[in-house]
Amino acid sequence: MDCIKLPDQLRAQCRVWAKEGRTIALVPTMGYLHDGHMSLLDHARLRADKLVVSVFINPTQFGPNEDLDRYPRDLDHDLAIAREHGVDVVFAPDPAAMYRPDHSTWVEVPEMGKRLCGASRPIHFRGVCTVVLKLMHLVRPDVAVFGEKDWQQLAILRRMARDLDLDVELVGRPIFREADGLAMSSRNVYLTPEERAKAPAIHGGLLEVRRELAAGTRDTAELGRIFAEHLAGKLPAARVDYASFVHPESLEPVANITAPTLLAVAVFVGKVRLIDNILLEV
Ligand code: AMP
Repeated sequence: MDCIKLPDQLRAQCRVWAKEGRTIALVPTMGYLHDGHMSLLDHARLRADKLVVSVFINPTQFGPNEDLDRYPRDLDHDLAIAREHGVDVVFAPDPAAMYRPDHSTWVEVPEMGKRLCGASRPIHFRGVCTVVLKLMHLVRPDVAVFGEKDWQQLAILRRMARDLDLDVELVGRPIFREADGLAMSSRNVYLTPEERAKAPAIHGGLLEVRRELAAGTRDTAELGRIFAEHLAGKLPAARVDYASFVHPESLEPVANITAPTLLAVAVFVGKVRLIDNILLEV
C-alpha cells in the first residue's frame, strides 16, 4: 500500500491503472477511521480492482466557527486500518496541495445545499462538492462509495454527478451504528462520558417516529413533536438544530407521509453536533 501526498502523483498512479484496464473505487474520508468507514472500504474493495481512500480534512467545508482545528486526526492509525482493509493507495494531501492561495472555482448545488445542514453550515456543501469533484478528476474512479449517515451529502453529490455528466457510479451504504444505536462518527470522541451514554436517544427518537408512523400518524408536524418529546425525555441537554421530513432525493419538505420520506436530524449534545437519519416507508 502506498501513501500519496501529491495530487499529480495520485493522478499518475490512477492513469497507469486505467491504462492497464483496471477499475478503480474511491472512498473519500476525513480520516480518524472507524467501523463505519471500514464498512465503506470493505464494500468498495469488492467493487473494483484498485481501491483509493482519501484522508483529507477539507478546510473549505468548515465554517469560520466550526471544528476544523480540533477535528480528530491520526494518520498512522488510518494507514494501519487502510492496510488491513486492502486499500491500494491512501491519498493524504496537505491543504496547500489541494488549494492554491488564489483558488477561485467552486461547485455548488445551491437549493439542496441550503436545506437541512446547509441552513446552519452555509458553505459546507460547496466545499464538499468542490473537493469531491477534484478527487474524482484526480482518480477517475469507476465507483465512489459514501455513507448514508451523511444522506444530504450523498443526495447532493448524486445531483452534481447527474448535472455535470460524471462518469462514475455513486454507491450509498447503510449507517453503521454502535451496539447501543448511536451512529458512528469521528466526532463522537468529543462527547463526555455522560453525553455519550445518553446520545443513543437520537436513534431512539427516530425509531419512535417509525413506530408512530406504523401506528397510523402521517402528519410530519405531529411526528416531529414526537421526536422532540422523546429527545427531551431521554436527553434533556440536547438542542435540536433541525428534525426535518424531506423527499429522499430532492430534499424538499414533506407535510404528510404518503411515499418514502427521510427524517433527517441534527442535534447538539452539549457542544457536539451529531447528525442521524431514518428512511420512513408507509
Ligand atoms: P467523514 O470522514 O466523516 O467525512 O466520512 C467519510 C465517509 O464515511 C462519508 O461518506 C460518510 O457518510 C461515511 N460515514 C461516516 N460515518 C459513517 C457511519 N456511521 N456509517 C456509514 N458511513 C459512515
